Amino acid sequence: MQDEVLILGGGVAGCAASIALARKGRSVTLIEREPTSRHKVCGEFLSGEALEDLHVLGIDVASLGAVPINYVRLAAARRAAEAPLPFPAASLTRKALDAALIAAAIAAGVRVERGRSVQSLSRATGNLWHATLDNGTTCEAPTTFLATGKHDLRGHGRPKDTHQWVAFKMYYRLSPTQTADLADASELTLYSGGYGGIQRVEDGIANFCCVVQRRYFARAGLRWEGLLAKMQQDCPHLAMRLDGAEPLLDKPITITHIPYGYLRRATEDGLYCIGDQAAVIPSFTGDGISIALHTARRAAAAYLAAEPAPVFQPKLRSAMLPQMLLAEFAASGLNNAFARAVLPFCLRVWPGAMRVTARLTRVTQPGAIAPQAFVN
Ligand SMILES: Cc1cc2nc3c(=O)[nH]c(=O)nc-3n(C[C@H](O)[C@H](O)[C@H](O)COP(=O)(O)OP(=O)(O)OC[C@H]3O[C@@H](n4cnc5c(N)ncnc54)[C@H](O)[C@@H]3O)c2cc1C
Repeated sequence: MQDEVLILGGGVAGCAASIALARKGRSVTLIEREPTSRHKVCGEFLSGEALEDLHVLGIDVASLGAVPINYVRLAAARRAAEAPLPFPAASLTRKALDAALIAAAIAAGVRVERGRSVQSLSRATGNLWHATLDNGTTCEAPTTFLATGKHDLRGHGRPKDTHQWVAFKMYYRLSPTQTADLADASELTLYSGGYGGIQRVEDGIANFCCVVQRRYFARAGLRWEGLLAKMQQDCPHLAMRLDGAEPLLDKPITITHIPYGYLRRATEDGLYCIGDQAAVIPSFTGDGISIALHTARRAAAAYLAAEPAPVFQPKLRSAMLPQMLLAEFAASGLNNAFARAVLPFCLRVWPGAMRVTARLTRVTQPGAIAPQAFVN
């Protein structure tokens, strides 16, 4: 089967790119390995830029039950400080968001194949990209968008994660007191081996998502219960927040090997890399979804303007490099014991710093490509 464009991965970036291209009349096939949307490891924070792009894609997050987030709160050891966010934000489960994006892609005319995993991708004769699926069938197209998120395809992988990060996500029903206290804040809790975010999502529940270095997890006995106890010991604010909370999943969902700081340098002709396959920003920024949407929009615009992928990819990298370096620098600060200890105190003295950091670590370059690139 042959299309103009093949999109591998139906998460945020893949769906966004497919909608942008289908709206411009291109024939697009999208292949997504999951038969239905499911929970993913993600803090589920939607930044202002993400909300803008989603709106242009026709996704009304409020009607899906998204919770408005107006504050960011930082807690380390026994101290906590908060500041209003400098942009509108919200939180919504990935299950709901991904389902809405796939539905929008289908409505835009994208041919979506769900429940099929891409096993390999190679350049066949006649300059066609050739994807082999798990049922042995193949799809071909002159242009492919690689949007498989954290999963690398053989031969198109990203470098190894040297810090060996492990991430977990668990939903909780917090006690009424803690739900009221958390309110409309996205709360970042800091530990000696990583950090976690807690915020309300739809249906009156809260998402706790954390990222820790493997050695910290090892010191906690390589078990979720041990890790949770250790994080609460390191950060009593988290212990307070989870006091009386009811876990809602049998066990947390988890991923490993997250190459934070990765920015793809180059690509091959006809292969545009987007989302986590283009860039992986430290999770505390809450900017990964926005980057997925941004890179999808820019790649679709590049393709429509006949800009070759090997020209597009390094340009994208240069545009995103300053914010990525800043986010990496801030992440190393969170990893430093002294910085962690004094951070909440400094932020109390100067709450504006949190707002400045929140704004500077946004990767979207206002005006670089307007959201109109998604429009008909
Ligand atoms: C711990 C953690 C917390 C985070 N918190 C936030 C946050 O609060 N806010 C935020 O904005 N970002 C956050 N992020 C980042 C965000 O989740 C990602 O950057 C974003 O999901 C990337 O979108 P994507 O489309 O590239 O990948 P995904 O959304 O993961 O989509 C990739 C899709 O490809 C499919 N796929 C994979 N392999 C194949 C294959 N072989 N064949 C077919 N399909 C395939 C998958 O099933 C998946 O649906 C967080 C990340 C982590 C690790």
